[in-house]
Amino acid sequence: MQPDMSTSSLSRRPPFCPHAGCEFHLDPTGWKFHRKGFYHRDRPPRRVQRYRCTHCRRYFSSQTFSITYWLRRPELLEPIFKSLVSCSGFRQIARNHEVSHTTIRRLSDRLGRHCLLFHERQRPHVCPTEPLVLDGFRSFEHSQYWPMDLNLVVGGESLFVYGFNDAELRRSGTMRPAQAVKRGVLERKFGRPDPQATRKRVEELLRRVVPPGGTVVLRTDEHQAYPRAIRRLRDRRFLHEQTSSKVARTPGNPLFAVNLSDLLIRHSSANHKRETIAFSKRRQSALYRLAIWSVWRNYVKDRSENRRRGTPAMGLGIAKRALRTRELLEPRLFPGRVRSLRGWLAECYFGRITTRAIETNVTHSKKYAA
Ligand SMILES: [Zn+2]
Repeated sequence: MQPDMSTSSLSRRPPFCPHAGCEFHLDPTGWKFHRKGFYHRDRPPRRVQRYRCTHCRRYFSSQTFSITYWLRRPELLEPIFKSLVSCSGFRQIARNHEVSHTTIRRLSDRLGRHCLLFHERQRPHVCPTEPLVLDGFRSFEHSQYWPMDLNLVVGGESLFVYGFNDAELRRSGTMRPAQAVKRGVLERKFGRPDPQATRKRVEELLRRVVPPGGTVVLRTDEHQAYPRAIRRLRDRRFLHEQTSSKVARTPGNPLFAVNLSDLLIRHSSANHKRETIAFSKRRQSALYRLAIWSVWRNYVKDRSENRRRGTPAMGLGIAKRALRTRELLEPRLFPGRVRSLRGWLAECYFGRITTRAIETNVTHSKKYAA
């Protein structure tokens, strides 16, 4: 692991210019800055060093490099991260900390963006050598009329979550006549989900996880969209092994790695509990929470509850020990410095995954906060 700078060095030399447009944002070789006094805060660190970049002439401070940048309640980030992977809803977390639930949602979104970048920096960008298991985790956004799949690719041996994305789905299955009428009304108002969504998103996910020229064993159920997605990825080789979803979900099942992930997501995320009122109102919010869950699953949580086997990241050989939440959170990561942040990943980072049933979807401006 190579963080930009360690937590303890936050007050020391700034590592690069934090402004995305500056020439010294990516490569600080030859970069110069001036110290420009201090400012004082009510909370630690109370005295913050200010700087000015001699090139872009913009100001920043040692706080600019902390994930708590511009937060009024910086001490909440770590407990909120833990609550979000312990099956608490936004309102429950808000009550525990005596803040509004919108504060929790904002912090959850910030943590989600951070985790997307953290995962992207740490994950292997070479072709995985273990079999990959792919599946869609079924949930819904806004109301039961808007189901969605969260597609996951998990390592068959390491249990490492390599990547995920979303696909909106049309409500199907048995409906009462009144429900079918309501679906029609909603679809006329908001449009119908793209019937190709699963094929398109699975293609995007596999393209991201398996680099061109790579060969992998890919295990899935018999979903018809998967072979279609694979056929479009001609510059990669997939040895596709399909297992019926009716086969018992035991450790011997070839899809065990992803079945276990599904179980863990439902067990630890309040928004995906069955029969809950804490369901996701927006797909974007569910994706930020899934990013937090993935980082926790890969770097913090042991592969086994009873026998200590180490984290999935240790199984993959990219970490030597389990990380503590605090170690995941600092330093702040900058989207402009993560080169693989493009396509769907960039859309997700900047909050541009829209929910049909909501007319104004608020997106994230990268100008100020992380
Ligand atoms: Zn600069």
